[in-house]
Amino acid sequence: EALTPSALLARLEQEDVQFLRLQFTDILGTTKNVEVPRSQFRKALAGDVTFDGSAVEGFTRVEESDMLLAPDLSTFLIYPQFSREEGERGRVARLICDVTLPDRTPFEGDPRQVLRRQVDRARSMGFEMFVGTEPEFFLFERTSDGRGTTVTHDKAGYFDLAPIDKGERIRREIVNKLLHMGFDIEAAHHEVAPGQHEIDFRYAPALETADRIATFKFVVKRVALEYGLLASFLPKPIAGVSGSGMHCHLSLSKDGQNAFADPAGEHGLSRTALQFIAGLLEHAGAMTAITNPLVNSYKRLVPGFEAPVNVAWSTSNRSALIRIPAKRGASTRAEVRMPDPSCNPYLALAVMLAAGLDGIEQGMEPPPAIQRNIFKMTVREKRHHRVRELPSDLREALEELGKDDVVADALGDHVMTHFVAAKRSEWQEYSATIHAWELDRYLDLI
Ligand code: GLU
Ligand code: MG
Ligand code: MG
Repeated sequence: EALTPSALLARLEQEDVQFLRLQFTDILGTTKNVEVPRSQFRKALAGDVTFDGSAVEGFTRVEESDMLLAPDLSTFLIYPQFSREEGERGRVARLICDVTLPDRTPFEGDPRQVLRRQVDRARSMGFEMFVGTEPEFFLFERTSDGRGTTVTHDKAGYFDLAPIDKGERIRREIVNKLLHMGFDIEAAHHEVAPGQHEIDFRYAPALETADRIATFKFVVKRVALEYGLLASFLPKPIAGVSGSGMHCHLSLSKDGQNAFADPAGEHGLSRTALQFIAGLLEHAGAMTAITNPLVNSYKRLVPGFEAPVNVAWSTSNRSALIRIPAKRGASTRAEVRMPDPSCNPYLALAVMLAAGLDGIEQGMEPPPAIQRNIFKMTVREKRHHRVRELPSDLREALEELGKDDVVADALGDHVMTHFVAAKRSEWQEYSATIHAWELDRYLDLI
């Protein structure tokens, strides 16, 4: 529920909140915040808090650096207490903000703005997109001086119980904190790899879900720290075991009804659903640069670990990029399986929505659904079924992004330019590095 500024001021007073965090996200997906004390609450709620945009990755040049934070009052929440000392310093609340220019027009480089533009575009077509996500993460030991390692804190596997699953207490603690913050938690469980976990929260409109992903990552990391552990959302921290994905379940609603469901349609899906899926498949390569933005992301997208490699859709098997879960009616949705939790959630949801809407606008038809395990198909069978592969590394993904106007338009010139520049330099740095593997493999031999 969106409060008015005066109602919110009264609430802050009543709840004895001492600090207010004004949060936003940079282009690469890092959450930023400025914290203001009580004396500044009125000013903060009026959207009068300024910051230096030139100091934020990919925002502005030094010449035009003054920016304002316009809080979205519907995002108000009071943080739970994460540690005892914290409690003594007073209660802390947060608001997620839209970034504006000094004349209060929205800043086109603000990722939240990028998603808002696609949400508005969907609305003008009569649709609202709902998204549920399944973020996975690892819990690692820290050294005695606090540095992170890749030593997992347990040796358990999928759906294991305590005491093999040592994550039970900490997951429950994370869930409790999230519940306190108004999250609707659907499930929490140990994942396939040792030290790997998943916590699922209920689907919501796209913008709300993007905000929640950002909050979720913060809470998981913060609680892990209290337990002396490192929570990492790195997509593939350990070679040879499952990586961490962030599957996104997308659906459209129209006039309050699920627009993907049609009992009379092929696979129980509406034409809208099929066109949306076709759009996602068409733009998958370019989207991957955004949904899988790290050099490391592509080490997860390999056969054998339930992560997708092939651009295809299926109503049954998990080897495809897009899976349609069995439930129909109000739960009809498309599960997009390539995103990983290192992505900027605002940009990721924006490009998926843009791709799907393009499919609807162009009246695209998806290729036939593939019900077989694609990993077991021969090259020839794949060609026959028109199955392409996802980009195999960040450089290839950036190349595809450069060729896709629909995805580039969704990002807008500002984000596109800064994102590509930052990611190219990341790739170049990686390419120029001599990795341990090269020395192990070649140094003696050659
Ligand atoms: N960890 C797998 C991935 O990288 C997903 C496992 C699952 O289906 O939940 O996408
Ligand atoms: Mg999972
Ligand atoms: Mg899933």
